[in-house]
Amino acid sequence: MKILTIAEQKENQLAGVSFEVIQAARALGGEITTVVMGGDTNAAAAALAAKGTRVMAYAHPDLKYFNDEAYVRIVKTVIDAEKPDIVMASATFYGKALMARLAALCGGAMASDCTGLTVDGGALTALRPAYGGNVFMKLQNNRPGTFFVTLRPKAFVEAVDAAGGNVVNQTVDPALVVTRAKVRERVSATGGKVNLNEADVIVAAGRGIRGPENFKMIEEMADALRAAVGASRAIVDAGWVPYLHQVGQTGKTVNPKLYFAVGISGAIQHLVGMRSSKTIVAINRDKDAPIFNIANYGIVGDLFEIVPVLTKKLKEAVG
Ligand SMILES: Cc1cc2nc3c(=O)[nH]c(=O)nc-3n(C[C@H](O)[C@H](O)[C@H](O)COP(=O)(O)OP(=O)(O)OC[C@H]3O[C@@H](n4cnc5c(N)ncnc54)[C@H](O)[C@@H]3O)c2cc1C
Repeated sequence: MKILTIAEQKENQLAGVSFEVIQAARALGGEITTVVMGGDTNAAAAALAAKGTRVMAYAHPDLKYFNDEAYVRIVKTVIDAEKPDIVMASATFYGKALMARLAALCGGAMASDCTGLTVDGGALTALRPAYGGNVFMKLQNNRPGTFFVTLRPKAFVEAVDAAGGNVVNQTVDPALVVTRAKVRERVSATGGKVNLNEADVIVAAGRGIRGPENFKMIEEMADALRAAVGASRAIVDAGWVPYLHQVGQTGKTVNPKLYFAVGISGAIQHLVGMRSSKTIVAINRDKDAPIFNIANYGIVGDLFEIVPVLTKKLKEAVG
């Protein structure tokens, strides 16, 4: 089985999800090739090759910022030459944009946001949650040709270092990077802080915080844990925090190791975005709040008393 994985980097910083995709591919067996594209791919390609994969590196000034038009053309040339059975990327904004276009362009089947992969009789079966995680679908590619698969971030472990990797620097055909839109600058909406999709720890707040002025308290707790900050839709709709923090059906789907739900009732539309978190801690003054039905640990009490004490203790513990 030939597997092509697509690495993700932003301004020459490789995203950890790239290693998760390599590990998922390795667990299936077969021959793995990884494509990395960017303005300068040297460091990223070396880090990927250290995981034992054959890396095809495409560096060009016009590839510095993600541009699906140019990136898709480059990966398409690799698919045409290598004819992989499976192409895999992470189900981030980057991966979703890229893979949907690629699957359409190549006429291939696509399974998105998968949380498990198995090989049965030489064919890949992709497992993906549906209906808010209440059921799981098993998807197989029913036609000849490449199967495109995106993997939910944090659902797979990162690859460890392995021997046998190498980097093949590729020449970029200038015609492939001529695009209708040019990205001139990228401004980080998270101000360089941890991105929700990649976070191991998330501290999320809901209407229980009473007003935007109290969100600082949540950010402080998140900083103590080097965590990302999440929010319920109620406080996003109220204009207390920007949409990029929203977790849930109409926000982001997250999968951290640890999720704190602070003053969040646990409406189903919120749960579908975070219920697969490994450990959930809920802080709510209502002992009957639905969030306690899925929480591993629950603290019943006033968040305005609990959060400052917890933050202080966490600062002492984490340093
Ligand atoms: C189509 C659709 C899509 C939606 N998409 C999303 C989505 O993506 N994400 C999402 O989150 N919601 C979504 N919603 C909204 C969802 O139904 C809920 O309204 C929302 O999640 C509630 O947010 P909340 O838990 O912050 O607020 P509330 O339900 O008002 O809960 C506030 C909680 O805070 C607790 N509390 C209050 N004061 C304190 C205190 N001092 N100390 C401790 N606890 C306290 C209360 O006991 C309560 O449980 C969607 C709804 C629809 C219809």
